[in-house]
Amino acid sequence: AKENGRGGYSFFSPEMNRKLVERRALEADLRLALEKGGLYLVYQPQVDLESGAITGAEALLRWERPGIGNMPPDRFISVAEETGLIGQIGAWTLMQACHEAVSWPEGMSVAVNVSPVQFRQGGLYDAVVAALESSGLAPGCLEIEITEGVLLNDTDETLAILRRLRGLGIRIAMDDFGTGYSSLGYLQKFPFDKVKIDRSFISHLGEDRSAEAIVRAVVGMSHALGVRTIAEGVETQAQAELLRDKGCEAVQGFLFGRPMSAGNLAEQMAAPRA
Ligand code: C2E
Ligand code: CA
Ligand code: CA
Ligand code: CA
Repeated sequence: AKENGRGGYSFFSPEMNRKLVERRALEADLRLALEKGGLYLVYQPQVDLESGAITGAEALLRWERPGIGNMPPDRFISVAEETGLIGQIGAWTLMQACHEAVSWPEGMSVAVNVSPVQFRQGGLYDAVVAALESSGLAPGCLEIEITEGVLLNDTDETLAILRRLRGLGIRIAMDDFGTGYSSLGYLQKFPFDKVKIDRSFISHLGEDRSAEAIVRAVVGMSHALGVRTIAEGVETQAQAELLRDKGCEAVQGFLFGRPMSAGNLAEQMAAPRA
């Protein structure tokens, strides 16, 4: 406890107090955004390295916070997780992404991020079914991206949920691959369709031999297990070429397009390729 200057004691320092007030305000604003609007999705193209065609896009959450402006997801998703709002936000994201993707050219898929806390809350399966039914999107056009955090505990139950989801015909990608402790073990244990090689490995490609070796190993191992690979955070032509040499199937990154509105993405996909 700290002396508060009026002879009494409070458990919070002014700094802690300020943070708490800020967090409460953020939570209240986020709740409002969910009810009244303010959240939206942008889409980053995913490109097939062989054909050069856009085959899908990752949905990334954005929030235009009144009076403050654009809030990056890293700032508000953690609060949504702590407060339990993430379940509703995740369900909204699935619904919105499926409704937007249904008007994309045939065969184009959309990838949606699922937070570990959202996963553990339950209700993901129902949210996926609701989004597919409401939008009419073909299950084969929906992919969910999960991180190692989802796989950490309760392996049997997690496995059962992932199998059920896959039974719907949607795909499951392992996001940020290589950043955790047990990526390899998880790849063997869980039914993934795709591995997303983390940006930290891609950014060192071309300057660092070990990054190259890691990418080659991840691609080789994924293929041995029948899993496709996509690299995230590809920013240079040299990185893209190295990835193609190593047999990586797909790429995503600023080189191929920044996250953009659904409308802009539809335009890009309709445009003839150079
Ligand atoms: P992530 O899933 O790893 O998403 C990729 C992030 O890398 C995105 O940041 C994207 O804009 C950025 N990025 C893409 N290409 C490049 C590149 O070439 N270079 C660099 N430097 N960065 C690139 P963003 O949109 O700020 O998202 C950050 C994180 O927030 C995401 O990381 C994800 O963990 C989380 N997130 C975003 N949207 C959602 C969502 O709808 N649900 C959940 N649960 N999490 C989300
Ligand atoms: Ca992701
Ligand atoms: Ca990622
Ligand atoms: Ca990442």
